[in-house]
Amino acid sequence: MNLKIVTNTENFRNELEDVVRAFEPYVSLQPDGEELTANLFVDEKRAVKTEIKIKDYPTISREYELDPSWGPLLIKRNLKRCLKRDFYDFMSNLTKKNLAYGSLTGIRPTKLYYELLSEGKDPHRELTEYFRVSDRKARLLDDIIQAQKGIYLAETEKADFFVNIPFCPSRCHYCSFISEVINPKNNRLPAYVDALCRDISAVTLRKARRAVYVGGGTPTSLPAELLERVLREIAARGEEFTVEAGRPDTLTEEKIAVMKECGVTRLSVNPQTFKQETLDIIGRRHTVEDIFRTYDLVRKCGDFDVNMDFITMLPGETFEDFKSSIDTAISLAPENITVHSLSIKRGSVFAENNYDNFSDELSLEMSDYAFDALEKAGYRPYYTYRQKNTSGRLENIGYARPGKECKYNIDIMEETHDIYASGAGAISKRLFGDGLIKRLAEVKDIKGYLERIDEMIEKKIAFFAE
Ligand code: SF4
Repeated sequence: MNLKIVTNTENFRNELEDVVRAFEPYVSLQPDGEELTANLFVDEKRAVKTEIKIKDYPTISREYELDPSWGPLLIKRNLKRCLKRDFYDFMSNLTKKNLAYGSLTGIRPTKLYYELLSEGKDPHRELTEYFRVSDRKARLLDDIIQAQKGIYLAETEKADFFVNIPFCPSRCHYCSFISEVINPKNNRLPAYVDALCRDISAVTLRKARRAVYVGGGTPTSLPAELLERVLREIAARGEEFTVEAGRPDTLTEEKIAVMKECGVTRLSVNPQTFKQETLDIIGRRHTVEDIFRTYDLVRKCGDFDVNMDFITMLPGETFEDFKSSIDTAISLAPENITVHSLSIKRGSVFAENNYDNFSDELSLEMSDYAFDALEKAGYRPYYTYRQKNTSGRLENIGYARPGKECKYNIDIMEETHDIYASGAGAISKRLFGDGLIKRLAEVKDIKGYLERIDEMIEKKIAFFAE
């Protein structure tokens, strides 16, 4: 069914459209679609009425009252919540579908959880009864908030530090990042590392560092000597220091030794799946054997906390395939396991080939299996975020053994700390209280980054001097 939203509340149009998109492919937004009206009326006595209707279908119309003590921020927040929730109920009736996250469409469901706590509410109850979140997902959020105790909002006088190395040995078919495939004929790595090292050292840190995260791309795509230059420039010792190694085909004994020497404490070795056929289909260009070999090497060479990433709903994978990957990961016992829902984003090979990963039931089954199996094996979910264009509008979840949570992952998702970021496409962040966050993005493409590094350094110095 094609729909077009008509509303008297343009401020919330994007939110309403997100709710419709969450019900795709049962419905879709089209400029010439059937008119679906979503109106919100507020009178001078602060009485609120919502009205959701479409031709030949029962209308939803509900009334609310705004608490007299609420200021503008709480009023806006509550108007949005009630309109979205009623709109969700209408869409759920229309499509005969319930979504695991109910009327929530945002990237960060835990932020809402913290908001509800600050409003003195019982978040689990509010999530299930008001926002229509399933009991299972509300329990997941309960567990995450529990796991974040002692880390969330700790050391806010310190800042995090992010470095981006957007190079990879080949392009995964689901990837939409700016990452560039390394081209031996046009080797831009030395020039990039020169610019990056200047970028890293340009700003005098006004806050002590809390966590360092070197991501990408695949930072370990760099040859050992260039990787060492970058890590020495960061020179983080005694802090949480993560390198997202990612691709098993990029890790060598020499690079692992460099990371150990430079104080790296956390590494990722990302299988995504333990099924060779799938690795070939998704363009990873490494074998299952490479994953085992690299993991053994990392374990042999250092005392790192290791993360392994997996993805649900990879092409052709059955529930049994996914289950087998998670079970194998558990048997290897890394400190962290992260389970992503496959997101088909513009710019990826999958999107260009119109790959359709849709199956609400299977994606939920996989996500639920990972949750149950990992909890049983002693892991706890400790951060989550949701992406658009995932089957079932599900989430990505980081699991950790207690005490092995990555602070940086929590900080970035909950937006609790300043971030000094360096590298093409990296985004620095400053928090000014009362939810005000300012961001500074560096040029995304590598050519532009190399050409405009001086200008970006100047901007960054000014940004952190404010
Ligand atoms: S390793 Fe990550 S950044 Fe590199 S191509 Fe694959 S998904 Fe993209």
